[in-house]
Amino acid sequence: MKLVTYEEQGAIHVGLLTESETEIVPIAEAERKLFGSTIIPDSMIGIINTEAETVPLITAIREKHADIALRTLALNSVQLLAPIPRPVKNIFCIGKNYREHVKETQAFLSNADIPQFPIVFSKAPTAVTGPEGIIKNHTAVKRLDYEAELAVIIGKKGKEIKKEEAYDYIFGYTILNDVSARDLQIRHGQWLLGKSCDTYAPMGPCIVHKSALLKAQELDIECKVNDEIRQSANTSDMIFDIPTLIETISSVITLEPGDIIATGTPSGVGIGFNPPKYLSSGDVIEIYIEGIGILRNKVE
Ligand code: MG
Repeated sequence: MKLVTYEEQGAIHVGLLTESETEIVPIAEAERKLFGSTIIPDSMIGIINTEAETVPLITAIREKHADIALRTLALNSVQLLAPIPRPVKNIFCIGKNYREHVKETQAFLSNADIPQFPIVFSKAPTAVTGPEGIIKNHTAVKRLDYEAELAVIIGKKGKEIKKEEAYDYIFGYTILNDVSARDLQIRHGQWLLGKSCDTYAPMGPCIVHKSALLKAQELDIECKVNDEIRQSANTSDMIFDIPTLIETISSVITLEPGDIIATGTPSGVGIGFNPPKYLSSGDVIEIYIEGIGILRNKVE
């Protein structure tokens, strides 16, 4: 089950991607026609908050939409937004979570030790942009970089979540590009500014419900810049796996439905090359994660 947030005639809705992934079923409209009810909220956060009640209904819509000829929209006729256009709090991000990436960051973080504990930082919610969003070329940024990441969407409120039960707290998964201003990251010591610039969190194209992605820790992840493969890895290469990240963060911070954890990037980021391959105006960054899709964004 793949869910998208889209804009049609100035209004924001949640849709279900059809099997062919070329069309969207408007969920709220489908529910009214199919069941005569209005239980499913028409926002992604609303659906995540009511998962137990609404996901079975969405599953029924998915199974029946073709038989009863519900209205569908061509994917290319609407504007896709980030699945969660405005996260409720900062996006949790994990630094140095792939071994080969730790080695390449030595060039600018002057430390290539494998972390003993997860490195957790965050990006501001205002950094989010959609799968068709442009990555802004801020005047203050000269060293623009990309980071392909699997993002986990939390589905249930929890504190002190144990590794063994971590997957019960997940709603689903999406792709996040942890766009980074390396010059700001280095100059300001702390990473928040260089990671939170407007449009530096492209996200999407959809959220895959966890029921449709059972092996989140075994997914191919790839990033191309203008068709040149830069990053190619598998989520099994993470140093700290998803349950460990959830256990670590929730040991002190209550996780809530709709919270997002970007799980770190593999090697092959721009600053890792000699000379570095930073992004410039017009570059297209395409991130593929198996079972989710492709997130494609262009630099302004
Ligand atoms: Mg990152």
